[in-house]
Amino acid sequence: MNVSKIEHIGIAVDKLDTAIPYYETLLGTKCYAIEEVVDQKVKTAFFKVGETKIELLESTDPTGPIGKFLEKKGQGVHHIAFAVDKVNEALGEAEASGIQLIDKQGRKGAEGLTIGFLHPKSTFGVLTELCSEKI
Ligand code: ZN
Repeated sequence: MNVSKIEHIGIAVDKLDTAIPYYETLLGTKCYAIEEVVDQKVKTAFFKVGETKIELLESTDPTGPIGKFLEKKGQGVHHIAFAVDKVNEALGEAEASGIQLIDKQGRKGAEGLTIGFLHPKSTFGVLTELCSEKI
């Protein structure tokens, strides 16, 4: 698999309203985008840190993936996202090498990216996202 960079780190928070000012102060940069991803039942806020981004995730529905994560584990690092050339190819390579997938096919993520998740059972406990601009 050809990973070009850490695209972003996803952090689950209870409230964007309180987390955004903290990250603006910490990083010395303004949140540049807030976007709701309806499929994922989540509202996201993005910051640039060099070539990498911080993605804050607020649940919009307790039955969604972030809602469940917050209930089980509380706030904290939720996933790491690696940039690849084409998500579907990378997911195929991962599966062929024995990594368990959450998504067999890429789906729509924030910022117009196509994303797919690897299962933390296969990734040493780290929920791992692959993302690309191309499908
Ligand atoms: Zn993400």
